[in-house]
Amino acid sequence: MNLPSYYRLKKSAAHRAFDASRAFGAGRAFGAGLLVGVWLAAEAASAASFIMGDAVSLSQLSHRYNFLAYTVQGKNLELRTKFNTFTFEGDTRKVEFNNILVWLNAPVARHWGSWTIRDLDVDKTILPLIHPSQALKSESWRLVILDPGHGGQDPGASDLRRNLEEKRITLELAQHVRTILQKYNVDARLTRGSDQTTDLDQRCLLANRFGADLFVSIHLNAAANSESSGIQTHILPPAGCPITESAFVSSRDRVAFPGNRHDEANMVLGYYLQKSLIKYTRLEDRGVRRSRFYVIRNVACPAALVECGFISSRNDRTKIMTSAYRDNVVRGITEGILTYLNMVKRAQALNP
Ligand SMILES: [Zn+2]
Repeated sequence: MNLPSYYRLKKSAAHRAFDASRAFGAGRAFGAGLLVGVWLAAEAASAASFIMGDAVSLSQLSHRYNFLAYTVQGKNLELRTKFNTFTFEGDTRKVEFNNILVWLNAPVARHWGSWTIRDLDVDKTILPLIHPSQALKSESWRLVILDPGHGGQDPGASDLRRNLEEKRITLELAQHVRTILQKYNVDARLTRGSDQTTDLDQRCLLANRFGADLFVSIHLNAAANSESSGIQTHILPPAGCPITESAFVSSRDRVAFPGNRHDEANMVLGYYLQKSLIKYTRLEDRGVRRSRFYVIRNVACPAALVECGFISSRNDRTKIMTSAYRDNVVRGITEGILTYLNMVKRAQALNP
């Protein structure tokens, strides 16, 4: 038995459930799930408190960055500029930016009668979204690495009764995205071009050796709960912040990874991928989430991991089986990448 490393287990609940069943065989998945649960609970119990520096009230933020309006209706908190709207949900980490869900690193909380947001979320979430040219001024746009999830011995999520295997679908999606990007004269390469077992280290080494400017890992999701449905995009949380699946900061969360050199660009990339995937697939928006998946924390460029629907959901699966849906996923990923690359070019033009 070869247990994946701690961090590989710190995936979404959906991926945890799936990985456990794969590692232990379907019949032993429940025991594995229990083991993981106990392990994570122990980690949570020893977790340090939620300390992430200072906070600022949303009304101060509104003045500081010249928002046009700040309105409060119960826990519905809205900040508006001429073109953009942030809608926060008080006491949670949820904010919608122009109707796309983004998960903050810390909840917006009431303090002395005012709703406040952490400075860290102002710097790493809010400002990159309203000032992408600033967030992207040190990034580049020449080489895109597409990473089809799983492969070879590792099928990923599967429904063999319906002949669905994540590894085959992710490869097909990545190949189509590459073809379209190349038509736009974007240099795009894959971490695997066939059904071969590809270690997570290999994927990162390859991206880093090629000098990737952008890394997008492509996956489908699976969950024990067959009602779970929709699209989610994962980016790395800043060092010191919990993953979206957890409310606690463990000692391991304090480590800064190579991917953390691109916190602001990760936010922009994650947002535009999620936005265009929702636009084309019209599936439920599960948001831009924070996770420390191996590939997105260890590549030395902006990175995101997209999960393009749940194989375990009847609703999503019916769509995933159609080429029309897959084409829409390809359009979503491609448009997200192209939007990001154009923003990088604009940022370079504005910051020569
Ligand atoms: Zn996967």
